[in-house]
Amino acid sequence: MRILVVEDETRLAATLQDLMELNGYTADVCHDGEEGLDNALSGIYDVIILDVMLPRMDGFTVLRRLREEGNATPVLMLTARSETSDKVEGLDRGADYYLTKPFEPKELLACIRALTRRQPELRNTDVLEFGGLRLEKNSFTLSCGGRSVRLSRKEFDICELLMLNRNLVLTKESLLLKIWGYESDAEDNNVEVYISFLRKKLAHIQAKARIRTIRMVGYCLEEAKEETE
Ligand code: CA
Repeated sequence: MRILVVEDETRLAATLQDLMELNGYTADVCHDGEEGLDNALSGIYDVIILDVMLPRMDGFTVLRRLREEGNATPVLMLTARSETSDKVEGLDRGADYYLTKPFEPKELLACIRALTRRQPELRNTDVLEFGGLRLEKNSFTLSCGGRSVRLSRKEFDICELLMLNRNLVLTKESLLLKIWGYESDAEDNNVEVYISFLRKKLAHIQAKARIRTIRMVGYCLEEAKEETE
């Protein structure tokens, strides 16, 4: 289990990190909202602990941007007591839980356990497989061996297209049309960004398959070549 802590009070951030690690989680720390959002969008986290008052981008904006990108990672928000009254309503818009500072470590740990239990369960075998990769349609999970990672909506759609068209070259134009649609003003750059997210996730689960870039054309999902001889 990997936890992202976005908290600008460095002592509290360090305390949270220690608490997580003592309890068997891996924890990464960011001290401002923009860095927090960038890291959260990697999709490698099981839970995000997100402070509300943050430099560069507040926690509510981070949460909104995260959800807009289709990232469904459970978010536990932290609020100072003085901030709660008018903010609680806002938390309902996408946070999975919130805690008021100061909080009991026991309570925080109970929240994390509850949030990690809520991960969607696989209900049927609607699965795509290729080159050791397994894409589960119901849970948006991509796995390889015993490692798995959750995909955002767009990452899932792109991954599915690549797996259905395995060993074929998909052009950037066709990806744009199929994923973003005709009406969208998304550009090649959007495709590149999501391909890079997917590559990070493939690396994270130590996948053997890889997304090859065909310069000026597009992308191709292929199995890694075995070393001969
Ligand atoms: Ca703060």
